[in-house]
Amino acid sequence: MTRRIVIVGAGIVGSSLAGALAGRDGCEVTVLDRSPAGRLYGSTGHAPGYVGVLGESPVLTDLARATVRIYRDLTDDDAAGGAPPDGGAGFEETGCLEVATSPAAYGTLRGRAARAAAAGLAARLVGPEEAAALAPRFVDAETAVAGLHFPGDGTARAGLLTAVQRRRAEAEGAEFADGAEVTGLEIRAGRAHGVWLADGTLVPADDTVLASGVWGPLLAARAGVQLPLTPVAHPYVYGGPRRERHPRGPFVRWPEHHVYARDHGDRDGIGTYDHELRPVAPADLGVRAEEPWPGEPFDGAVAAALALLPAAHRFAPAVRLNGVFSVTPDNMPLLGPFDGLPGLWSATAVWVTHAAGAAAALAEAMDGDEPGAGFAALSPDRFAGEPAGVLRRRALRHYNDIYAAG
Ligand SMILES: Cc1cc2nc3c(=O)[nH]c(=O)nc-3n(C[C@H](O)[C@H](O)[C@H](O)COP(=O)(O)OP(=O)(O)OC[C@H]3O[C@@H](n4cnc5c(N)ncnc54)[C@H](O)[C@@H]3O)c2cc1C
Repeated sequence: MTRRIVIVGAGIVGSSLAGALAGRDGCEVTVLDRSPAGRLYGSTGHAPGYVGVLGESPVLTDLARATVRIYRDLTDDDAAGGAPPDGGAGFEETGCLEVATSPAAYGTLRGRAARAAAAGLAARLVGPEEAAALAPRFVDAETAVAGLHFPGDGTARAGLLTAVQRRRAEAEGAEFADGAEVTGLEIRAGRAHGVWLADGTLVPADDTVLASGVWGPLLAARAGVQLPLTPVAHPYVYGGPRRERHPRGPFVRWPEHHVYARDHGDRDGIGTYDHELRPVAPADLGVRAEEPWPGEPFDGAVAAALALLPAAHRFAPAVRLNGVFSVTPDNMPLLGPFDGLPGLWSATAVWVTHAAGAAAALAEAMDGDEPGAGFAALSPDRFAGEPAGVLRRRALRHYNDIYAAG
């Protein structure tokens, strides 16, 4: 018997899930997204793509490990297609360097080094000179106290990896519909039976998966269920193109300052979480996970972030991005079935860092298998009964800590 699966959202999560499910015996997979062909209107289209394997909990570390394995495989798969203009690939093992500029922050790095060792991940504490040598444009040896180098971390070109996942899924028979706006869910007799499109078409399904990113709560609400994720706006800026090209350096994070920087090969980028919170009400979201640049408070926060770089390498922002992504009350994804509504699944609040591993785990759960320790803790129902306002405040409290993991 055919099992019809509809996935709402063709970002890195929905496309990865289609890749994991397509070709399985009896599965007919359809992915719907309102973005036009070749465009990614969701968060995936904006992410600078840091992939740090050591998570705040073992389940996140497991998902990131699995993700890196899959991204490497997709990157090899794509190599035959020719490299993009800046020479970057889907996933690059650039490593990550965490930098401390105070004794207290150095203590945090030592703690993380111990956690990495316990998780079997390579990580090495380095002095300020070595940190600056590893990332000369980003690390100022004068202000750095120490660094923690994770050679196995990397950076992802999320758009490229999403395209490769889609290509693979389509080769296995999955169908993707671009420009397809989902307006509601078909709920009958306490079960989800598919989705309604804006043109009034019903797309019937045995399983409906919300991989709709920051818009997930809007669709869930139409089915009468709560999806406790909060969209937040986040600043990231790019410098102008650089003439000189060189091997890409590591992703750099200053956890105590809530700042990170990425070498994009042909230009630099920097992002910061150290600013006044800017939640976006789901009802106010447009169709792109992007908001207008607000001026202050982002200008001031970006200027403070740039001040961490060596004076000679501070750059004037050429492109300012105010992207939107999800935070949850415990900083973990919302992944799994909705217990109260059979046939409906969530694959939301998932980072690029965890996307392919999360999709593989969800595909296993949909097959009725046990996807591994810790999966149940990601249930989208885990906050059932708690008031929405309390959950929202808890989620927002985590925002500044995203790159300040202890
Ligand atoms: C500025 C910025 C920096 C980030 N940095 C990083 C980082 O360094 N590392 C990292 O791991 N993550 C990062 N993230 C987070 C990461 O981008 C997201 O967690 C991830 O891309 C989410 O993928 P997704 O597929 O779930 O959602 P999305 O990419 O948002 O995809 C959801 C899709 O659903 C579609 N959709 C929604 N509603 C409907 C509907 N009603 N009908 C039809 N289609 C619909 C949308 O069009 C969209 O394409 C960052 C995000 C931003 C914005």
